[in-house]
Amino acid sequence: MSGTTLKKTKQGIEPNLVDYQKTYAEFDWRQAEAQLQGLPKGGLNIAYEAVDSHLKQVIADKLALRWISKKDQILDFTYRDLAEQSSRFASVLKQLKIAPGAKVYSLAGRLPSLYIGALGTLKAGCVFTPLFSAFGPEPIRSRMEIGEANVLLTTKALYRKKLASWWHELPHMQAVLLIDADAEECEPGCYSLDSLMAEGDPHLACEETQADQMALLHFTSGTTGKPKGVVHVHQAVMVHKQSALYALDLHPDDIYWCTADPGWVTGTSYGIIAPLCLGVTMIVDEAEFEADRWYRILQDQQVSVWYTAPTAIRMLMKAGTVIRQQYDLSALHFIASVGEPLNPEAVVWGDKVFGIPFHDNWWQTETGGIMIANLASQDVKPGSMGRPLPGIQAAIVTQGEGLREEITDPMTIGELALKPGWPSMFRTYLHQEEKYQKSFSNGWYLSGDLAMKDTDGYFWFVGRADDLIKSSGHLIGPFEVESALMEHEAVAEVGVIGKPDPIAGEIVKAFVALKPGVEADEALRKQLQGFARKRLGAAVAPKEIVFRTNLPKTRSGKIMRRLLKARELGLPEGDISTLESDER
Ligand code: ATP
Ligand code: MG
Repeated sequence: MSGTTLKKTKQGIEPNLVDYQKTYAEFDWRQAEAQLQGLPKGGLNIAYEAVDSHLKQVIADKLALRWISKKDQILDFTYRDLAEQSSRFASVLKQLKIAPGAKVYSLAGRLPSLYIGALGTLKAGCVFTPLFSAFGPEPIRSRMEIGEANVLLTTKALYRKKLASWWHELPHMQAVLLIDADAEECEPGCYSLDSLMAEGDPHLACEETQADQMALLHFTSGTTGKPKGVVHVHQAVMVHKQSALYALDLHPDDIYWCTADPGWVTGTSYGIIAPLCLGVTMIVDEAEFEADRWYRILQDQQVSVWYTAPTAIRMLMKAGTVIRQQYDLSALHFIASVGEPLNPEAVVWGDKVFGIPFHDNWWQTETGGIMIANLASQDVKPGSMGRPLPGIQAAIVTQGEGLREEITDPMTIGELALKPGWPSMFRTYLHQEEKYQKSFSNGWYLSGDLAMKDTDGYFWFVGRADDLIKSSGHLIGPFEVESALMEHEAVAEVGVIGKPDPIAGEIVKAFVALKPGVEADEALRKQLQGFARKRLGAAVAPKEIVFRTNLPKTRSGKIMRRLLKARELGLPEGDISTLESDER
């Protein structure tokens, strides 16, 4: 791992968190609580914090959300627009007799109605559950069954293709709201959202929810197994807001682009809630990744803070630097990444082509918000996830059965654990209380990730607990091997697994996707093997390297190592509901 550091953000902007040590030592969640508006008659509601609370401020008529359609049509929404539209949505739910606490699912692309629906659902005191629009009928159905869905917000096309034949069988379903249907086209139980919204009340007040009331149900990415339903409460907004100030360094004048789809937790926590709470202008792009398009959006929209994911960064790296040079990205002052380990190579590349490094941060669906981060005010250590945010106590603890103990020796592998008590901590795994209880030991929440901590307090990701490779007495984290191979100029992406071996226990096997135009031949395979051996030593370098056109990934962009392994061993593939179609 690289010991070098890269210099922070661009000049001229004072970061929100300057003195890490002091702020960390003095931080108290009560301060963050005091920054919340709270409901007029007491209680707390995420949507009120995100939109309605701004109505009496000067930012009421500021641009809150700029939506760019696949065909480059632009629709703008001010904070007032969002407040009124979400109130209309909440009143639609009321009119349909959907009671507070009901689960409102969304299955839609990144359309304005999805964002308005999310806010309106929360305003009505209901629970918002976003699904990826690309899910097939089975993953949609199982998630709706687990969560006992009451309402589904979707489009005509998705409805017809994926739901029309079975949704009536779900006992709790009360209504399907169709974003783009006319009233005449709707079957019984389906409603034209536009028609109902037109009659809705733009000034309906927010439901009086309490801080500990359920607000969000998110399904995990399914990287390590069957996705879990993770329960969050309104109080999570404290972390959304505070962490976006610290870890994304959002300032009031920022134009912010979070590229995540609300189908996974980042797209909701940091693609809807946090930026609106902080009163910035956010960009939503309906289209999927395309290097040219992304650079154009960054340039034309003058994006100043950009939050994205390693897969996207690797795709941009694959597209090359020439294309980057065609765009003026001088507005960018902070760039961050989450979701997967960010290879040091990608951090260094960011620094080279954007003039600022990517700031990696770590969190999970369960934590509700960013826990560990590289900060704007600090030099970045490429390959490290950064340090715990103020208010977050993180540690490395022992693995295995029995009480977990903190490991204080630097750079020693153990499980990454957090001290419970931060406001956005999940409240349970829905209908899996036992599993929830099992994720705590000796006063720690156990993340399921392996990591190490250095003497400066920075955390280094090693791998998922399930992915750790034990080879001839060595413990090898896949991330280390993947990052070494990523440094080779021919390599676009790598997934590494432990393959059972009668002598070594396991051997390291790497699946490599190459950059466009690179020939996958024996000579290159040998070269990569030598390259890895030089960097990692013979004990850690992969014994086997194979080429793949693509690696299997979740829809949130995570490499599914368990699937590489299952396929390698000819074992059942397990739950692949979140798998993005892949070529083997
Ligand atoms: P499942 O729990 O269903 O297997 P998942 O863990 O991938 O899926 P998420 O909650 O979406 O579901 O992802 C959180 C996980 O993503 C973390 O536990 C970690 O393994 C990985 N992750 C997130 N950010 C980082 C990061 N900066 N570096 C390394 N890994 C990260
Ligand atoms: Mg997980």
